[in-house]
Amino acid sequence: MPSYRQLVHQWDAQLQQHQIPLETARVFLLELTRQQDVDLYLNYEQPASESIIQAFEAGMARIVKQEPLAYVLGYSWFYGYPIQVNEDVLIPRPETEELVAQILARTDELFTDSSFIEAADIGTGSGAIALALAKEEPKMRMVATDISEKAIAVAQTNARALAVPVRFLVGDMAQPLIEQRLKLDLVVCNPPYIPDQEVLEASVAEYEPHVALFGGEDGLKFYRQVFAAAPLILKDKALMAFEIGWNQKEALLQEVAAAFPEAQAEVVRDINGKDRMLFVTFSGGQQE
Ligand code: SAM
Ligand code: GLN
Repeated sequence: MPSYRQLVHQWDAQLQQHQIPLETARVFLLELTRQQDVDLYLNYEQPASESIIQAFEAGMARIVKQEPLAYVLGYSWFYGYPIQVNEDVLIPRPETEELVAQILARTDELFTDSSFIEAADIGTGSGAIALALAKEEPKMRMVATDISEKAIAVAQTNARALAVPVRFLVGDMAQPLIEQRLKLDLVVCNPPYIPDQEVLEASVAEYEPHVALFGGEDGLKFYRQVFAAAPLILKDKALMAFEIGWNQKEALLQEVAAAFPEAQAEVVRDINGKDRMLFVTFSGGQQE
């Protein structure tokens, strides 16, 4: 029997050849051993268990074909929560955890005196944003929408697993919220924002759903739809929070200034220094 260490290093050459970080094999093994309550680092030099060898070898064969680790595992960690994923949903990204953290800080300040925060997550995918927000802030009353019924099914499974009450609606962007005549304190959206013609790395382009990635010719199509719907779905005092592409700040700030001259707009960088989050705050009052 190979040791756990040997199991990982058997794949070094293949990983290198396919330009996949060597770390991926160790993280994969860490997750498999965690599932079986084996402490990988205490047992690193010990013979690996038969069932782990089988699962590891089968998974690594997929990983060297560029399949993302999260799809092989069937879950991804988001804001400390396990989120089930499959090829019907985008794998939640670390940048999006930063969006959640920013929203929690801002809603805390903006809605200190409210007993509830009526919130919507448009294009919820796996449900990652909606579920993390609802877990972290019990005042959230969360509605989550997506055009993909298959994505909503995944998000529903996640909501049950995490025991979070979220209302799910299938439909085109803000349309289901308009139909339900909702008036919201908070609208969050990480829309598909990659320009249609952009070439993506294989692990993304070949495995992740294109409906979750591409946002029209300039990548901004879905932001415009949410901006247009905003007066119908927001309360006077409200926050809109978006994830954005690293080069979309100027264009989006211009659109926001034109659409909402009374609102306050701010773009915040992610941990890598890239413009990544857009917040539009309506402080209420002056719109009367
Ligand atoms: N919110 C998830 C996250 O942050 O990990 C997923 C974000 S993914 C970038 C965009 C999501 O928008 C996908 O789940 C996709 O199915 C959904 N979507 C695409 N077009 C849509 C539309 N017209 N109306 C509603 N949702 C849409
Ligand atoms: N961050 C994703 C990527 O680079 C894109 C997500 C999105 O379009 N919202 O693949």
